[in-house]
Amino acid sequence: MAHRLKACPFCGSRKTEPTQYHSIFFVVCRDCHADGPAKDSESDAIEAWNTRVTRKMDGDGH
Ligand SMILES: [Zn+2]
Repeated sequence: MAHRLKACPFCGSRKTEPTQYHSIFFVVCRDCHADGPAKDSESDAIEAWNTRVTRKMDGDGH
């Protein structure tokens, strides 16, 4: 795996994995079934997931 997924922002699980549905890709958490933004490629889906996790943590920091 070239890409690194961050832990789930909702339950903290590290069982996150990229999923393909027809022609779109998104990251899902296997523990709480949260899913990330749908993208055209797996790498974009992973980036979107990681970005959301970072933003969530920044918000909690305040
Ligand atoms: Zn989760």
